[in-house]
Amino acid sequence: LVLVSCALSVITGLVIARGGAGGGKTVRQRPVIGLSMDTLKEERWQVDRDLFTEKIKAAGADVLVQSANSNDAIQLQNVESLITQKVDALVIIPHDGAAMAKAVKLAHQAGIPVLSYDRLITDCDLDLYLTFDNVKVGELQAKFLAERIPAAGKLRLIRIYGAKTDNNAKLFKQGQDNVLQPLIAAGKVEVIFEDWAEDWKPESAKKITNAAITKNGPNFDAILASNDGTAGGAIQALMEEGLAGKIIVTGQDADLAACQRIAQGTQSMTVYKPIQSIATKAAELALKLAQRKPLVAKDAIPNGQVEVPTVLLDIVSVTKENLRETVVKDGFRKEADVFQ
Ligand code: BGC
Repeated sequence: LVLVSCALSVITGLVIARGGAGGGKTVRQRPVIGLSMDTLKEERWQVDRDLFTEKIKAAGADVLVQSANSNDAIQLQNVESLITQKVDALVIIPHDGAAMAKAVKLAHQAGIPVLSYDRLITDCDLDLYLTFDNVKVGELQAKFLAERIPAAGKLRLIRIYGAKTDNNAKLFKQGQDNVLQPLIAAGKVEVIFEDWAEDWKPESAKKITNAAITKNGPNFDAILASNDGTAGGAIQALMEEGLAGKIIVTGQDADLAACQRIAQGTQSMTVYKPIQSIATKAAELALKLAQRKPLVAKDAIPNGQVEVPTVLLDIVSVTKENLRETVVKDGFRKEADVFQ
């Protein structure tokens, strides 16, 4: 019987992976990293997968990727299969942050450290969390609206939140609330309709927009969509009503379709989260975990059970005015693709 030492040491931001320093596993020459993804549906996740894979391979390691098609039972099976294949570290993008606590437990029983990527896994003894500043994403979306409140009068708003199963969706809402609550209290903003989009589906966002229009008519100024996928669904509904381009619509991810809509004027803004940064950083951190090397995480975020050592990355608000200086300049989008 081998007892794997599952002690995680956090000393003022210094993280030493479980299984390390005299612990159970021997460190391999060519480590294997397991990547378990919720979905590849939104465009961004394909970029995350490709860049992460590229970086891991460039560092002389291997990667095994699984995607769960927004299904918790499948994601758990995927993680079990990666554990069976003896990966040295696991990177998980959870569909449901609470449901994946079980996956972390199983990984730890096998002495494998877990990095939660972009979305937090809650209520477990998670090793490390790497993400963008999600509260700030919500704040940037809401600030954009706050700057566009009609001088005389108020901004009438439809709010579309993300998937209830995604902890990020709650953080985006929290950031939006930070900016909007005082404006709502002052009578400057009125929320005329709000709902959560099931699994972040554009169709769900379209239905929410349709329902808001059925209830209130076309008498509103803005839609606070929490990402570009849901913005796309909402804009589809606006197009059918002849309202596209007349209503302010927010987003997030700088998806190509969203950048094109911004260039054309049917979407007003997006939040650019450089996928290159998160994928590169994740590859670096996952390799350190796999090799049981110490690493530094400056922040800590509570997940219901522990203060998870966290690395936070910064983000940028993108509008028609700065599309070129942000996503195009960064090489994330090609000018010819955006401005057609
Ligand atoms: C991510 C967003 C993404 C959304 C839907 C969130 O957790 O942070 O970038 O648009 O999930 O996949």
